[in-house]
Amino acid sequence: MKPLKAACLIAMTAFGLPDVAVAEATTQVKTQPGHYRQLLGQYEITALSDGTNAMPMDKLLTRTDPNTIRQLLAEKSLTPTVETSINAFLVNTGKNLVLIDTGNGTQANSNVGKVQKNLLAAGYRPEQVDTILMTHLHGDHFGGLVQNGKLAYPNATVYVSQKEYDFWLDPQHLAQAAPERKPAFQRVQDVFKILAAANKVKTFTGDAALLPGITPVFAPGHTPEHTAYSIVSDGHKLLAWGDIVHAEAVQMPIPETTISFDSDMDQATKTRETLFAQAASEGYLVAGTHLPFPGKEIDQRQHRGANHREHQA
Ligand SMILES: [Zn+2]
Repeated sequence: MKPLKAACLIAMTAFGLPDVAVAEATTQVKTQPGHYRQLLGQYEITALSDGTNAMPMDKLLTRTDPNTIRQLLAEKSLTPTVETSINAFLVNTGKNLVLIDTGNGTQANSNVGKVQKNLLAAGYRPEQVDTILMTHLHGDHFGGLVQNGKLAYPNATVYVSQKEYDFWLDPQHLAQAAPERKPAFQRVQDVFKILAAANKVKTFTGDAALLPGITPVFAPGHTPEHTAYSIVSDGHKLLAWGDIVHAEAVQMPIPETTISFDSDMDQATKTRETLFAQAASEGYLVAGTHLPFPGKEIDQRQHRGANHREHQA
């Protein structure tokens, strides 16, 4: 290296470039940062990536024909199998540190389970999180609550809507579930047994604020009581909307497109259309679990007839 460096120095000097241009090479990092920060009034919002999951959207999306799906994806330079983001959102209100969803957890494949790593990279420690808000109880949202049988966020109280909690925690539902759905019920019940033993679960009904400026917004259809969270500070609003959209390129232009995981497709469509219309008229920000990380902007022309400005934190 040394003789080569000396040669470079001579060459650079000959062209009149400063010596700094030949400083020791710094190793390239190569990976993308998995956190993205934005202020919302007095609150600080940090999007945390859990990683991505390859999802064959032409097979998973329903109520829109596969050719249209493939065409809309191609218009965004996407193949039918989309590397789909999984995001969690950390809200620092100045008093509370609130995590909305927790990603898959490390039991899942190596492409996911990165929320906690990215929380650390974003400058926080898991024990600083005092509140966790669950949008719903699917594995890519609650899986990160427990790690190796222990609470991954030991000082956090976990809030879940009552109806969502009852649906997944009911032993009858586990017993009656189709064989392929049993593991999903079993995992919820295993994880929440650990949380309940530590007295860390709080369920809620209604839409009273859970913390100053943070209010649940029932957004059913994807699961029985899928819940979005409205976050307002100094008149600025963000809606962490969970799984309202899985395939932005298709569901933004055609909101009636559902995904096979939606438990009530009619209701899921209704909720999506309502929230799209609200976001358009109020102009608030949107934080979506499966919008592309960090998903700063959604193409305004994609939503039919809407004059909206939606963003993902
Ligand atoms: Zn999800």
